[in-house]
Amino acid sequence: MTPSTDLNIPLFERAKALIPGGVNSPVRAFKAVGGTPRFVKRAQGAYFWDANDQRFIDYIGSWGPMILGHGHPAVLEAVQKAALEGFSFGAPTEREIELAEEILGLVPSMEMIRLVSSGTEAGMSAIRLARGATGRSKLIKFEGCYHGHADALLVKAGSGLATFGNATSAGVPPEVVQHTLVLEYNNVAQLEEAFALHGKDLACLMIEPIAGNMNFVRANVPFMRRCRELCTEYGALLVLDEVMTGFRVALGSAQSVYAKSIPGFRPDITVLGKVIGGGMPLAAFGASRAIMEHLAPLGAVYQAGTLSGNPVATACGLATLREIRKPGFFDTLGASTRSLVDGLAAAAAAEGVPFSADCEGGMFGFFLLPELPQNYAQVLKTDGARFNQLFHGLLGRGVYIAPALYEAGFVSAAHTAQDIADTVSIARDVFRTLTK
Ligand code: PLP
Repeated sequence: MTPSTDLNIPLFERAKALIPGGVNSPVRAFKAVGGTPRFVKRAQGAYFWDANDQRFIDYIGSWGPMILGHGHPAVLEAVQKAALEGFSFGAPTEREIELAEEILGLVPSMEMIRLVSSGTEAGMSAIRLARGATGRSKLIKFEGCYHGHADALLVKAGSGLATFGNATSAGVPPEVVQHTLVLEYNNVAQLEEAFALHGKDLACLMIEPIAGNMNFVRANVPFMRRCRELCTEYGALLVLDEVMTGFRVALGSAQSVYAKSIPGFRPDITVLGKVIGGGMPLAAFGASRAIMEHLAPLGAVYQAGTLSGNPVATACGLATLREIRKPGFFDTLGASTRSLVDGLAAAAAAEGVPFSADCEGGMFGFFLLPELPQNYAQVLKTDGARFNQLFHGLLGRGVYIAPALYEAGFVSAAHTAQDIADTVSIARDVFRTLTK
């Protein structure tokens, strides 16, 4: 494909004239890796086709939601049926109850749930709820975790534990982030110090249990245990942001994975998105009845949405969850993801490329580093130029991974053993060409 025949290029030019950066969400613009984004025409199963009708094996899956692959027949049927019945009513439907029952049945830490339209909205609402329920203002988040683009969460670490964070985006007044304390992920000593200093003023601690926004970094078990203990001790709420991990790493979400090592482990508030909408704009947050009853119209914490619980999105999410709770679904998905990660590691080793990788359920990450990072500063040690070489090598051969080294990858139930074998074989060829 030469630049003169690549049909993605004129589309990108047209888009850039009308839409900032040519995209409606920044990472899609390929700014980190350079080159032209692929404009997607259609997708089916584990693949999508771009403007040139080139096929790509898709390891992004809309950044997580497409756990069944694209165009799953049961999901399509449910969406088509729902669309014929009406797009949006702004009034309650039985399907919202069904989706609530389905989610609450699979994640027992929640007794009630509220549906919203995006992960950002869910995270933002969860924080307002935590503040309203505790009557406190301060919150902890961790460097490298992303919880959507609500003002109070667009924060990087301040200069010390006594000072709070600095906004990472223009347009966020310092007063808005003055209550957000940003700590290092997996650093127990710092966590303890922060609670000793601010514990009684903390409304909540918000965390991605497996951080997928710094590629793939697990909160280790002692760290997660300490997060739970300290929140309980000081009366702060533990908010697990499972927008990415929810129904993606296990049927019970990441909290069920931690409960295996930390008996009785439960968050106070869970934030969900992505998979629960199956590719439609749907997200949620949930907690115990006592916490959720602080929400309007029962309580004093206001939260609302014109399209919340949208009937078509709800049908899509329900059909998706009904597929993934079929017996053996996560065993098969987990094995498939593991085979990809192991295959990539073996290919890198064979070509002498430093490499480390991890996965859980249908979510994975890999680093061009000899050991798995434990926090954001360690993730930043990745050689960006080599990652970009790898990215473009894969892309040119029809394998689509995230166009930035800070993002996790996703395997769907539609990825076949052959897709994985092809990916590993292409990756090995690309590893061979990487500058040593
Ligand atoms: N929380 C996490 C962990 C996420 O990964 C994301 C998005 O990638 C969000 C929140 C925000 O979700 P949305 O993009 O639907 O607003």
